[in-house]
Order: sequence, then C-alpha cells, then structure tokens
Amino acid sequence: MNRRMFLKLSGGFVFLTACTDEFTQTSTRKVSNFPIHLESNRNTGHLVRTAMELPISHVLHTETLIVGGGISGLAAACSLPNHDFLLCELNPDLGGTSGAIQINGDSYSQGAHYDLAYPENYGADGLQLLQDLEIITFNTKRGLWEFKDKQYLIDSKNEEACYDNGKMRSSILANTELKKNFIELLAPYSNQFPLPSTLINPELHHLDHISFFDYLNKYLPVDQYFIEAIDYQMLDDYGGTSRQISALAGIHYYKCRPYYTGEKVELFSPPQGNYYFIDKMKQQIPASNIKNKHLVFGLKQTEKGWQTDVYDVESKTRKQIVSDNIVYAGQKHPLKYIHPESYAQFNDVTYAPWVIVTIELKPEALTGSKWQNDFLSPNAAFLGFVDSQYQNQRSTHVLTAYYCFAEVNHHMVANMEENVDPIVHETIDNISLYFKRDISELVKQVHVKLLGHAMPIPQKGYLTKERTLTHNQLSFAGVDTGRLPLMFDAMDSGIQAVKRLHLKGNS
Ligand SMILES: Cc1cc2nc3c(=O)[nH]c(=O)nc-3n(C[C@H](O)[C@H](O)[C@H](O)COP(=O)(O)OP(=O)(O)OC[C@H]3O[C@@H](n4cnc5c(N)ncnc54)[C@H](O)[C@@H]3O)c2cc1C
Repeated sequence: MNRRMFLKLSGGFVFLTACTDEFTQTSTRKVSNFPIHLESNRNTGHLVRTAMELPISHVLHTETLIVGGGISGLAAACSLPNHDFLLCELNPDLGGTSGAIQINGDSYSQGAHYDLAYPENYGADGLQLLQDLEIITFNTKRGLWEFKDKQYLIDSKNEEACYDNGKMRSSILANTELKKNFIELLAPYSNQFPLPSTLINPELHHLDHISFFDYLNKYLPVDQYFIEAIDYQMLDDYGGTSRQISALAGIHYYKCRPYYTGEKVELFSPPQGNYYFIDKMKQQIPASNIKNKHLVFGLKQTEKGWQTDVYDVESKTRKQIVSDNIVYAGQKHPLKYIHPESYAQFNDVTYAPWVIVTIELKPEALTGSKWQNDFLSPNAAFLGFVDSQYQNQRSTHVLTAYYCFAEVNHHMVANMEENVDPIVHETIDNISLYFKRDISELVKQVHVKLLGHAMPIPQKGYLTKERTLTHNQLSFAGVDTGRLPLMFDAMDSGIQAVKRLHLKGNS
C-alpha cells in the first residue's frame, strides 16, 4: 500500500483535535480516522530558559541526589544504604529508554522490550540485585539464572520471523556456509564476553580498536548480503552498523550467551517490556523519594557538597537541592550546560536517535506474525515490529514498531516534531506489506515516541576509554559511561556508581 492508497482509504484529510498539553511533552493530532499522540522532550531547552529566570522558591536537603529515573538511576536508588535520597526524573513517569505507555489500563513497552537468561559468569552485583528483586533464580541443571515469572517467557515457536524485501525467511542471518564459518571464527570467544562489559578480560581490549566490519573482512569472505544482515543486528542492539561499532561490541553480541549451540536460552518479554524491571525497582523505593517532572539544569560544587538547580515542571517553580553526593544517571550530552567541567570525558559519545511507533488495533483478528518481526527493506532505519499477541495475553492488541536513525540524521527525528504523520503512514504501509493486507482500517490509535539521544553507539575506543566516573562525590551512571546499551550494563552502572561513593554504609 502506498501513501496515496492510504489517503484514499482513510478519507485523505488531516485535522488537529487537541493542542499540546500543559507539560508540552505530548500532543494529539487526528489524522483521518485515528488519532496520533506524540511524545518527545522537545521543550527541554525552553523549560531551562524559563527556569533560569525564576527565583529559588524551595531548598531541599538530602544525602544523595539521583539525576535520572532510567534503569541505571533506579538501580542506584536500590543500592543506596538508606532512604536519605531524592531521585529527579524529567518525564512524568520513570523508565527512560525502558519506558512504557498505558493503553486501556495496561502498560506496553515503549523502548527496551526483552532480556534473556543470564549465564553464571555474569557480574555478581547485578545478579544479586535481580535476586533481591525476586526476578531471577538459579537453574543448577542448566547453569543459568532464569526468570521467575514464567508467564512472560516467549514460546520459541513464536519467537521470530523475518521479512526480507517481500519474502519471508526464518531468521536474519541466513543459513549459509558463511554463517557456519562465522560461528567457527567466534567459537574461541565462548564464555569470554560476560555482562557487565567492564568484566571483559583486558587481553581482549585490542578488539575495541578495530571496527567489526574490518575484523570480519579480515577473516571471512564477507559479501553484501551477509554484512546487511550483520548491520541489521548491530543497528537493532547498538544503534550503529558494523563499520561504526568496534569488534569488541560486535563479538560480544554473538558471544554473551550460548547462542548457536543448540542450548535454549529463556527469552523474557512482558508486554510492558523492560518497564517490568523499572516497576520492580520502583516498588523498593518510597514514593516520596521520587520527583517526576523535575528537570535538573545545573550542578554546583560548594565547600559543603553540591547545590543542584531543579525546575519543577508541574508547579513551574525553581528549587535547589543541597546534597552530599550526586549520582548522575541522565544522558551525558547536556552536561555541557549542566556541569561543563564533567563534559569533556564524555565528548566522544555519539547517540543514535530512535523512534517508536505504537499502534493500538481494533479488536479484530490479525494473525500471521511472530513476537519479533524483523524487516529488511531499502529503508534501513525501519527495524520491524513486536506483536503483543505473543506476549502474555491481554485484551488489547498492540504492534510496536522501531526505527533507528543514523547519528547524522538527528535533524530528521527533530523535524518529526513538526509533522509526525509521514512516519506513521510509512509504518502502517510497511506492516501492511508484512501482513499482505491493508491494516490501516484496523488502526484505533497511534502513539509516537521520539528519542533524540536514545542509545550510545559503541564505536571504536568507546568501551575501553579511561574515564573518571567519580570525583568529589559526583558519580556517573548510565549506559553512556562506556557501557554497552543493554539493560544489564545500565543496571550495573548504577550499582557501581553508588559503590564508588564514600558513604557511611559502603565498605
Ligand atoms: C528503542 C530501544 C530499545 C532497546 N531495547 C533493549 C532491549 O530489548 N533489551 C536491553 O537489554 N536493552 C535494550 N535497550 C537498551 C536499554 O534500554 C538501555 O540500556 C537502558 O534502558 C538505559 O538506561 P539508562 O538509565 O542508562 O538511561 P536512560 O534510559 O536514557 O535513562 C536516563 C533518564 O534520565 C532522565 N534525565 C536525563 N537528563 C535529566 C535531567 N537533566 N533531569 C532529570 N532527568 C533527566 C531521562 O528522562 C531518562 O529517563 C534499548 C534501547 C532503546 C533506545
């Protein structure tokens, strides 16, 4: 179905139904016969300018301030020895790139959507936190940490399908001689690529200084078809192609678990995705410690500790938080304004922008897909969609489509704030191609989430660069501290950020 056909089918007219809300983070448009809701942080610059004009109306005191309520910020909160802390999160809800959206009273993933059972050699701190949260338990027979909530495991027969330019096949990496050689090439690295990525043996760090493409090209007769498949997987998990990312990151993708060994690794994907982990951590924290809709816009060190400028978006007031310690778990690029002294050590980090299009369908049977539906087409940014039908059954049927744009195309995502309709049409067109039927008449509503700086790309040198992550009781967490953009690394970065602080309860 092309755009003209879509317009014909839907009546062809576009009109606004509601303007931006008070927070100016979400807006709703009605395109043809279904509404489109847009969520982005486009207004942050404006909020900072407003905040700077205001006098300080409240001063709050706390031992530790946590900036950012993604996985890393919450893992830090769960690791502190007491509850004398405040966590400021800009968004109305926690989660960051592991966020979720409410549809008909249920949560659906709007970012990270799965994790897999953890091998024994994974980091003890992260495994301990997941045990404390009652998420995992050790399967002695299989030597794997598996998930307790079995209802969220994806049945292997429903796991994955791949649409390749009009044809269906079972997986992204085709079963060829080249794939066999590729698996053999990486075989010596078995059990050497744990998470967190900080545990990788330094003897392998030289692999951080060669691109994954150059590494593969050196040892294998790679062809365009093979590299396209590899690039798809690298974009999907790391936000960059094999030419952009390091061999250390690339090999990690294939060797962090016993893939291609015939061993089954549990795939855990609740409908709310990795917001499941956010929810579990949130339950450990008193609600009064969490300050949503609080934007941190300045950090200043004083003789006694830290003074932080915060804008309360709801009450439109400026607050100051005085603390002994800070765990900074927000993205690092705004540090140029928030704390310029700290920015230099993160100025090598490049981020891939992502767009998530969540489609709520009318209650009519739409079958023929799998849980994850990969999509290879001339539009390399479109990575396919996840179908909620194969997650723990809920009455609402939701398709969640993912786009990862090249780092140089930040402006394309920024422009979507002005007009989000084309990407919604494109998504519906692509999914219609997949199902071989026009799905536009089944669409009830669409939510679009723009994530401008979603994922740090593990380029050459990124994973092994020396960084001072704690200085004067300011400790940095987050996957963009030289970690792989994965849940386990994000979580560990928060735990280690707390461990590096000199706190009364820390040994
Ligand atoms: C689309 C997508 C899909 C993914 N899928 C998976 C997956 O399936 N499995 C997996 O393991 N990993 C996945 N990942 C990676 C995973 O989501 C991340 O590694 C992890 O969630 C990052 O957590 P974080 O805390 O480091 O950062 P973030 O999630 O970016 O959290 C940072 C938080 O800080 C807040 N913040 C920033 N600055 C400020 C400020 N100044 N004041 C107040 N608040 C602030 C932000 O609003 C945000 O909530 C995915 C990532 C993306 C983008």
